[in-house]
Amino acid sequence: AKAEGKGRYKFYAADMTLRQERRLDMEGALRGAIDSRAFHVYYQPKLQLRGGDIAGFEALVRWDHPSLGLIPPMDFIPLAEELGLITQIDLLVLEQACTMGVQCLARGYPVTMAVNLSSLDLKNPDLPTLVAGILAQTGLPANMLVLEITESFAMEAGLGQTSILEQLTALGVSLAIDDFGTGYSSLSYLKALPVNSVKIDRSFVRDIGTDSRDTMLVSTIVGLAHSLNLRVVAEGVEDHGQKDLLHHHHCDEAQGYLVARPMPADQVFAFLDQSAQD
Ligand code: C2E
Ligand code: CA
Ligand code: CA
Ligand code: CA
Repeated sequence: AKAEGKGRYKFYAADMTLRQERRLDMEGALRGAIDSRAFHVYYQPKLQLRGGDIAGFEALVRWDHPSLGLIPPMDFIPLAEELGLITQIDLLVLEQACTMGVQCLARGYPVTMAVNLSSLDLKNPDLPTLVAGILAQTGLPANMLVLEITESFAMEAGLGQTSILEQLTALGVSLAIDDFGTGYSSLSYLKALPVNSVKIDRSFVRDIGTDSRDTMLVSTIVGLAHSLNLRVVAEGVEDHGQKDLLHHHHCDEAQGYLVARPMPADQVFAFLDQSAQD
């Protein structure tokens, strides 16, 4: 039994080394990717349920890794956060998204551009100045920019980071609460923060047609949000049944594979032209 234990330890140690090596590789590659700006921004549209116009897009980052190809955000954002690199990445995404917004505007599409912020970004006191700089440099009108922050951060912010959010909204940008409904406890932060919209998490939208409790939750969230003058966006809308129910329950916008998958920058104008014809 002793030998077996030792063997297992050795095996585990070797495995650890491999993982540590892989992590170091990833770490180096990620730093290199920031220097060479090797991030692609994909854009996923949000459909206005009343009227059927495209209201805007959400920018979603992918890392263009030299040998691994496009890496989804969930596979490198935690590492980027750990290494303190996330804000640099988010600012690269912000710059690309603002440039895209200006180009959409020039083509006659005044769509909003939403960018995801990590809670670490919001701990950086320079963030409002950095955002203002990117707006000025790209020429995007501030009212076309939406910053998506997660509910868990928003609740923390109730306790301290409010002034960063206030400085951001003072620039004229909008704030959206992402993954709304997945946190819990008090909703009082909604009253305390300068928020403009909430995004109902995909987990509530998924079963909206079949689970009456989810339908009830969504309808309650919409009512609550509207009573606070907030717009409501539903995430993860994949079929017509979900879309129709959301419309029926007065949700404002739908985002999800039904409208379109996140698309590379070079497909955005064709998508807008096509949608305008429908
Ligand atoms: P999120 O903000 O909740 O974004 C929505 C995610 O759901 C995206 O995944 C999107 O591709 C996916 N999605 C959209 N519609 C549907 C649908 O109909 N069905 C299903 N099953 N999925 C759908 P993605 O692009 O992999 O992003 C994952 C998460 O990574 C995002 O979740 C966001 O939290 C984070 N993220 C993405 N881009 C950035 C970024 O630039 N900065 C930061 N800090 N985080 C980002
Ligand atoms: Ca988001
Ligand atoms: Ca979500
Ligand atoms: Ca999210």
